[in-house]
Amino acid sequence: MPTLGIDLGGTFARAAVVDGKGVILASAKVALQDRKPQGVVETIAQAAEQAVKEAGVKVDGCGVGAAGQIHKDSGVISVAPNLGWRDVPFGQLLTKRLGFAVKVVNDLSAAAWGELHAGAGRGAQDILVAFVGSGVGSAIIADGRLVTGGGGVAGELGHIKVVPGGRLCGCGEHGCLEAYAGGHNLIAQTKELLASGSSRILEQLTNDDPDTITPVTLETAADAGDVKAKEIHSRAAQFLALAVANYVTVLNPSRLVVGGGVLMHCPGMKRQVLDGVQQWSSRVSREGLLIADAELGDDSGIIGAALLVK
Ligand SMILES: [Zn+2]
Repeated sequence: MPTLGIDLGGTFARAAVVDGKGVILASAKVALQDRKPQGVVETIAQAAEQAVKEAGVKVDGCGVGAAGQIHKDSGVISVAPNLGWRDVPFGQLLTKRLGFAVKVVNDLSAAAWGELHAGAGRGAQDILVAFVGSGVGSAIIADGRLVTGGGGVAGELGHIKVVPGGRLCGCGEHGCLEAYAGGHNLIAQTKELLASGSSRILEQLTNDDPDTITPVTLETAADAGDVKAKEIHSRAAQFLALAVANYVTVLNPSRLVVGGGVLMHCPGMKRQVLDGVQQWSSRVSREGLLIADAELGDDSGIIGAALLVK
């Protein structure tokens, strides 16, 4: 029987009815108006009902991929920075509202599971998935199983420390990789540079309007010869590359799947990261390593969440 997949982000929730092969039968996307847990549950339930009605089938389970740190098994979202949540018993609330079992996992774990079964990971047993979008995350598949860790928060690539005591991260700690290389933080650093008044190139690119800044703006400024923009850009790329390279050295995956908006839209950043991975992972760990782009795009998380229920 098909299952429901939910992709819970910071501004939207998407629900999809997905068959056993990972094919989306119908989906619905709704904006989150009320970001309180009960309000989000209600919004998701409405999207789910819409998708189920459109698909015209029965579903018997629901998986949710949520941006945040999720406690294993209990479905409690320990931290969801972009929703401002701490310790929300989300799985329980949604189960009660939908009337059937709900499994909650980190959005990256869901995306990795989707890529493993229906995308760029097909046929591999040991996969490392690294995504750089607004945040930085990863998921590990070892021997065909998702590695969740003792508490369910394994694979938090974005929160390894790269500068002890460094920039403040959305998770509340300092010096995380995400604080330097996540899309939100690339934008924040570029805004700081614009506000400093020391970048003529950035002023021209943005017409002096900080709201137009995206990670692509940073890359364009760096390519145009802005020394400070290049510093921010190169530092992010180098931190990412080192982190993923070390990950490859430790885990020896047979496949590395990369995705996320920043890597997809900033080719210079992606090239530097992948070059760094080749350069800095140990020779033996990267023998036979296949590097692939994520194939399912925005659907990887929703497909993976639905398939994880099985
Ligand atoms: Zn962090």
